[in-house]
Amino acid sequence: MQLDEIDNLYYGVILDHYKNPRNLYPLVEAQIQAKELNPFCGDEVALQLKLSCDGVIQQVGSQAQGCFICRASASLLSEALEGMNLGDTELLNRSFRVMMAGEELSVTECDTLGDLAALKAVRKFPVRIKCAMLAWATLEEGLREYQGRGQQ
Ligand code: ZN
Repeated sequence: MQLDEIDNLYYGVILDHYKNPRNLYPLVEAQIQAKELNPFCGDEVALQLKLSCDGVIQQVGSQAQGCFICRASASLLSEALEGMNLGDTELLNRSFRVMMAGEELSVTECDTLGDLAALKAVRKFPVRIKCAMLAWATLEEGLREYQGRGQQ
């Protein structure tokens, strides 16, 4: 897959996040942390979320290694997560999966996605969808682990 195979509209957003990844610094003392690996292409994403006492995501750390789709996706996700509460992240996650599956999005789902909509360009390259999804799998793993801990 070549960068120039992506639609211009989305190309700019994806390239920007690839070249200037947001929230790169690992957060210490983050309540939510996870790390996932995609053995297929060697992509790796680590994610940390720092919550305020009322459960709003105050700070995000996102470190991705591997192909540019994986790295851009992790950066875009980290930016979207800032300021969200954990319930919002579920809507975001669901909306992203609906988009990547090529299904129709509601207005609310579209609004939630914002710049993340650029990643729908990846749908043209089915083998790369996993690269775009890795950051989301990492988020899910972190949330699952966090929620499991709360119930103990
Ligand atoms: Zn990849």
